[in-house]
Amino acid sequence: MNNIWFASHNAHKIQEVQTILTPLGWQVRGIAEAGLTGEIEEQGQDLAENASIKARFAFEHLQEPCISDDSGLEVEALDGRPGVHSARFAGLPPDSGRNLRLLLHMMEGRADRKAQFRTVICMLWNGNEYHFEGRVGGLITLEPRGLGGFGYDPIFMPDGCNQTFAEMTPNQKNEMSHRARAVANWLGFLKKINDI
Ligand code: IMP
Repeated sequence: MNNIWFASHNAHKIQEVQTILTPLGWQVRGIAEAGLTGEIEEQGQDLAENASIKARFAFEHLQEPCISDDSGLEVEALDGRPGVHSARFAGLPPDSGRNLRLLLHMMEGRADRKAQFRTVICMLWNGNEYHFEGRVGGLITLEPRGLGGFGYDPIFMPDGCNQTFAEMTPNQKNEMSHRARAVANWLGFLKKINDI
């Protein structure tokens, strides 16, 4: 069994990754299990830098393989905002409802409604840093639709779909989400190094 530390305090995310990796012979544990329970400052300029800051923080303390992830919504007409600021777009403390209303307000009267969700996973492994990305393109709707999901899901309609992420079942969303695509890329890498 290979050990990987996940620099996250989101129990749901950790569980999701454990479910995928345990059958493949990888044991993934949240860094809280190693006593690292404090919040990690996310002051990076972009998603990759934030993911890197979190993974490096964990590696400095644990000296074992570590991963982290960072995601955000990038809206074309807003020059890629909210991007790395997605969680706290409308200020602190983070509030999904306020974030979403602020974004719709900024998009009023805009014809170009193209956007993408993007995830970067950072892995520190054998002294090297690797990044794996996943993205899904779509449109910002005119108003919120659906009750599922979280964050900006009610106003994001993926390309080729007529439902927002919040109108889909969790499985439907997971088949195409940015996070699922980043995890798939990362898994491809793990399978390769497992075979070496
Ligand atoms: P995190 O890096 O996964 O914690 O994501 C940062 C922020 O991006 C979240 O707090 C949400 O506002 C937004 N976000 C990331 N992924 C999603 C998603 O799948 N749906 C909706 N919002 C998301």
